[in-house]
Amino acid sequence: MTVDYPPTRVAGRGRGWYRGDCHVHSVHSHGGELTPEQLAAAARAAGLDFLATTEHAPADTHGAWGRHVGDDLLVILGEEVTTRTGHWLALGIRPGQLIDWRYGVRDDVIDRHLDLVKEVGGLCVAAHPYAPYLSGTFMYPYQGFDVVEVWNGPWASDAPWHADNESALAEWGRGLAAAVHRGRWRPAMGNSDTHLAGQLGIPHTVVLADELSTEAILAGVRAGRSWLAESAAVDLTFTACAGERTAGTGERLESGGTPVVVRADVTGVPSGVVTFHTERGTVHRAELPDTGSGTVQWRTSQEESAFVRTEVRHPDGPMAALSNPIVLS
Ligand SMILES: [Zn+2]
Ligand SMILES: [Zn+2]
Repeated sequence: MTVDYPPTRVAGRGRGWYRGDCHVHSVHSHGGELTPEQLAAAARAAGLDFLATTEHAPADTHGAWGRHVGDDLLVILGEEVTTRTGHWLALGIRPGQLIDWRYGVRDDVIDRHLDLVKEVGGLCVAAHPYAPYLSGTFMYPYQGFDVVEVWNGPWASDAPWHADNESALAEWGRGLAAAVHRGRWRPAMGNSDTHLAGQLGIPHTVVLADELSTEAILAGVRAGRSWLAESAAVDLTFTACAGERTAGTGERLESGGTPVVVRADVTGVPSGVVTFHTERGTVHRAELPDTGSGTVQWRTSQEESAFVRTEVRHPDGPMAALSNPIVLS
């Protein structure tokens, strides 16, 4: 195999929202059927700006990507670290870097491996915490992980290997209240875990970044300046404003005690159901028209709500979009 690593920065559109899928397997992983070339073409067709290559170890598979990238698609180097008691994603590692996977929660060595990723500026993601198959259920504490993959693959599926996204979301949502109060919360992300044709980008993460580079995208994901989309057909703008001040998903709004207006602008979810959530639970619910486009607003204050996040679901329940919280202070 000719070794040809992808660039860590491509052209992009300057500061803006970029869509990407950070859990992707090719023929270099067990069960993967697509070549890097086919995945790059599928990423463009799915409206993605970036993807992360996350093969199961052990060989260096990063060098297969460079020639398929072009100037419009960022490929982030990663690995899915498949330990005996759960999987995690190492994103933004060095070309050819290999993170060891031969341990379980009882060995008490996870922090050492997480540190190797953080030392090179990478990001550690707890993958599909409620996957039902052997060794797939995530048994480590979230402490030490930067992000949780609360949405892995189609929201609801009958496939026996399918992660229970509803459980992952419930756990993440419950943890937010105390975490936001302590000033350090762990963002959510969504990835497809693609192995087969037709899976890429379902779902993906939409990230606000200064440029289309590994460093800028991972900074946006780490900060939670992102939301999760079922596909590129769905768009969501989630903001909170207090007087002249405005904040978006993952940001902090300094309200200074003035009333806060929370707003979700959605397109692409016909008859969808928009809900807002705080530490008190589901605080607001509204339905979108059958055109799929609409705006939902709700008033609150910093005394009433420490944070607000939103979910947009299809009428029969599956998720279409999900935001990280806006923190009110
Ligand atoms: Zn996995
Ligand atoms: Zn995987």
